[in-house]
Amino acid sequence: MKPTKYIWKNGQFIEWENATTHVLSHALHYGTAVFEGVRAYSTSNGPAIFRGKDHFDRLLDSAKIYLMDCPYSADALLAATRELISKNELSSCYIRPLMYYGYKEMGIDPKNNPVETIIAAWEWGTYLGEDGIKNGVRCKISSWNRIDSRSMPPLAKASGNYINSVLAKQEALSCGYDEAILLNINGTIAEGPGENIFLVKDEILYTPPISDNVLKGITHNTVLHLAHQMKLEVRFESLIRDQLFLADELFFTGTAAEVTPIREIDNRKIGNGSRGPITETIQTAFFEMVKGNNPNASHWLD
Ligand code: PMP
Repeated sequence: MKPTKYIWKNGQFIEWENATTHVLSHALHYGTAVFEGVRAYSTSNGPAIFRGKDHFDRLLDSAKIYLMDCPYSADALLAATRELISKNELSSCYIRPLMYYGYKEMGIDPKNNPVETIIAAWEWGTYLGEDGIKNGVRCKISSWNRIDSRSMPPLAKASGNYINSVLAKQEALSCGYDEAILLNINGTIAEGPGENIFLVKDEILYTPPISDNVLKGITHNTVLHLAHQMKLEVRFESLIRDQLFLADELFFTGTAAEVTPIREIDNRKIGNGSRGPITETIQTAFFEMVKGNNPNASHWLD
């Protein structure tokens, strides 16, 4: 991670090194935090936070699910982020807002602990590597199932949920793959540890519905809009593992992963074993959009 000068914390800009927290903070012990991953891209009008308002709305939705009172509106957090990018003199960056229960009392009930809010931003390149973006990544179907809404809320981007993602990621890497794909407890495809998934078969896009315990991805939604513009048919359907093996193309979407092709799953080549043509078209359109080159999407450049 490449440090910048400032981190925003509870309404103040403080130096990166001083953005610390007490070791007895509630969130460290019980995972009681909600967060976002956002990117700002360099455009001809300076840095633009891609769908920033949507990300902060989702942060507040996550807080709502966890009964966490956020002292800031989505607009106020967006304004703070703009100022942070400018103070840190960043032209493009990854942005990490986090709201967590801090330090006061130990015990599972968090309500007597203060809610702390931070926003950090730093330069961060491709998440699954330049080669992954271009040629696709190799994935393993995880032995870990994606969390289920009967135990944890999959729609909340809550820190505790990511222990599940960490297990899947570690397993995939230790088996020599780039990324994991998690099934839900019904045995159908859910998503990656930090990505949604799309399948292409006979020029139709398929993706699992929210009820399959996936995060409602903002990049996923962006791809739905792009598919609409391209007049591609999209179907929300539960998918089984075999359908992935037999797909023409597969790709991940996510703020960190952007649009990343999947070229192999459990040693089966997907399609022609590299980035497929529909994936490439969507990926190119996505990168044009975030860089401000799609007039239909100017309202998403915050
Ligand atoms: N699923 C999970 C579990 C994630 O962590 C992410 C990243 N936020 C996504 C999907 C993709 O969501 P988005 O496109 O909003 O970043």
